[in-house]
Amino acid sequence: MYENFWKQKGEETTVVTSSWQHISYFSDIKNVCWFLEPALMSAIMRLHKVVGNAVTEGRHIVVGTGSSQLYQAALYALSPHNASEPMNVVSAAPFYSSYPLMTDYLKSGLHKWAGDANEFNKQEPYIELVTSPNNPDGSTRQDVVKGDKGILIHDLAYYWPQYTPIVSPADYDIMLFTVSKSTGHAGTRIGWALVKDREIARKMTTFIEINTIGVSKDSQIRAAKILQAISNSCDHANQKDVETFFDYSYKLMAERWKELREAVNKTELFSLPDFPLETCAFSSRTFGQLPAFAWLKCEGNVDDCEEFLRKHKILTRGGKHFGASMKYVRVSMLSREKEFKLLTQRLPAIVS
Ligand code: PMP
Repeated sequence: MYENFWKQKGEETTVVTSSWQHISYFSDIKNVCWFLEPALMSAIMRLHKVVGNAVTEGRHIVVGTGSSQLYQAALYALSPHNASEPMNVVSAAPFYSSYPLMTDYLKSGLHKWAGDANEFNKQEPYIELVTSPNNPDGSTRQDVVKGDKGILIHDLAYYWPQYTPIVSPADYDIMLFTVSKSTGHAGTRIGWALVKDREIARKMTTFIEINTIGVSKDSQIRAAKILQAISNSCDHANQKDVETFFDYSYKLMAERWKELREAVNKTELFSLPDFPLETCAFSSRTFGQLPAFAWLKCEGNVDDCEEFLRKHKILTRGGKHFGASMKYVRVSMLSREKEFKLLTQRLPAIVS
């Protein structure tokens, strides 16, 4: 979706690497996260400061092969290693469909998926995933269990100004971010965690050490270049001919949501969530969420919305993957233009 923006950037974001560079496993042996490239660390801190979406002062940065690896590293770090039972892991439904899979696929003795946080009522320790804005429904979220034995992980993959008004810098104990959703570079596989507690950051680092002995330096350096280019464009935003990445991506998201809502309003068959308006402290714009996914509901008597849409040549992911009703599906808003146009043409063309 952001490909055209990056195409215009040309030289500014091109990375040239010689075969003698980035050879060692090590990046910065004095850092808790010894495989974090200093250039990426500065780029991350600068971008959060420019956008104002997260506190970085007094935090340790742990880099991961996508935030997916950091999610697993956080579970490893937060689950007691000498407990008789695996740690419960919960998130309020509808939750990101990969959480249960990533929690349980190795059948770990350390942690287990315990489902919808709204229904968790055991007097046992737990980890709660708070995804805000949420995947799949775009809602702004807070923790729901509120027990005294809980530890929170905040997945802030979508807390960027093209998707949601930035109301204040996020200030939680463990926050996960990724280039996949912030800049669109999903294939670069770079995510980062901002972690308050040094010991937790150290354990997360140990997980990645055992899992992949660090994170690709080439990818880190490429990600650093891209993040710096975004910060540079924001710094030069007052010069007339510079469009910042967040201006570009916000306008695109706003346009797509307008087109999707128009398409959905042409039929009685579907509905979309509505979002409250808020003012973004970064852009000064007042707007409602523009989520990366649309949480579409089939109204009427269609019970399996995914199956129904597939018959009409629209591929989505059904509600049951997210711990929700099959009347809902998740539709990606981040496809290429041509695909998105087809979606907005095919939806209103469905009669029954
Ligand atoms: N968290 C959320 C909420 C996501 O939606 C995604 C990607 N779909 C991820 C994490 C994984 O991101 P990454 O590509 O960095 O592994």
